[in-house]
Amino acid sequence: MSTPDLVSLDAALARLRARIPAEADALLVSEAVNVAWVTGFSGSFGKVIVTRDAAVFLTDSRYAIQAAEQVHNMPVDWFATPVKDEEFLAVHLTRLGVQRLAFDASVVTVATAEKWRETVPGVTWIADAKAFENLRAVKFEYEIERIKRACGLADATFAHIQRLLQPGVTEYEIALEIEFYIRRQGAKVAFDSIVVSGERSARPHGTPSNKKLEVGDFVTMDFGAQLDGYCSDITRTVVIGAATERHEQIYNQVLKANCAAIDFIKPGVTAKEVDTLAREVLAELDLAQYFGHGLGHGLGRLVHDSGRLGQGSTDVIEEGQVWTIEPGVYIPGFGGVRVEDDIVIRAEGAEVLTASPKEFLVVGG
Ligand code: ZN
Ligand code: ZN
Repeated sequence: MSTPDLVSLDAALARLRARIPAEADALLVSEAVNVAWVTGFSGSFGKVIVTRDAAVFLTDSRYAIQAAEQVHNMPVDWFATPVKDEEFLAVHLTRLGVQRLAFDASVVTVATAEKWRETVPGVTWIADAKAFENLRAVKFEYEIERIKRACGLADATFAHIQRLLQPGVTEYEIALEIEFYIRRQGAKVAFDSIVVSGERSARPHGTPSNKKLEVGDFVTMDFGAQLDGYCSDITRTVVIGAATERHEQIYNQVLKANCAAIDFIKPGVTAKEVDTLAREVLAELDLAQYFGHGLGHGLGRLVHDSGRLGQGSTDVIEEGQVWTIEPGVYIPGFGGVRVEDDIVIRAEGAEVLTASPKEFLVVGG
């Protein structure tokens, strides 16, 4: 298991510190993924107060031992019953001289914010979503290493389930085998796996059913591993037994859109331009009308992390970001194809992190 080095965690802390808004003295980090990102702590309950010259990690007695083991880039303190979370927070805010505290308005509930305002006297609470926006989008190298390993596990999973891809096997059985395999390696599935076949493959986010694979079915499998806090997200589509020319033509056009987008994406281009390019490739065969979702999303500690590749997106591609590239074509009554890879943006363009074969594949039968 790789541990984030202190240099990386200090860089994360510095990035957070630079985001303290001018009207505040400090930021309160309360979302578990952000807390993990800035401290290395993997438990479910923790908070970080970041001022311009100090920081502290706060948790409760359940995590006292784990916090001492995992958090090394700032002091750690914890409370136990009968002390309450907000009382403990108040003590540290007073100690640090914080009078104006910005918190993450995109995740803190209205009820929690009200409780803080009532129970922590002398502090002005500033609801601020901007300070936390796209905070983790540009990855540190150790994060890319972890995502790479999660992608490697997804690739191994796809290789492992090949033998199951034959007529008579149900979508459930494939989804279950994906989960068994990933969990046996000490990881978790990053999200509920999608396995859809035949006409059901026209549902981009369909859930696996007891439908059996049949000759002539497209089978779309979309799954990922969460390993050491970081996710992968891959989709492959194959044909069972025997394919028609239409299967091959549609598949190859989706693949062409996937490859064109990966060739094109680089620092400085816009998310919208990348999405448009994929749509243009599909339009060559009049297939763009069947592509209803965005081309991709940010990937990291969350499987749908911040950032979207789509027509409504204002994101600009930057070095160090990690994206999925996942064009799809879904034709009601016929079936669907999606080909999804994970990439990291380097200075010269995309480095592809998923390595499963993606040429047109007819298997089983
Ligand atoms: Zn996916
Ligand atoms: Zn995805």
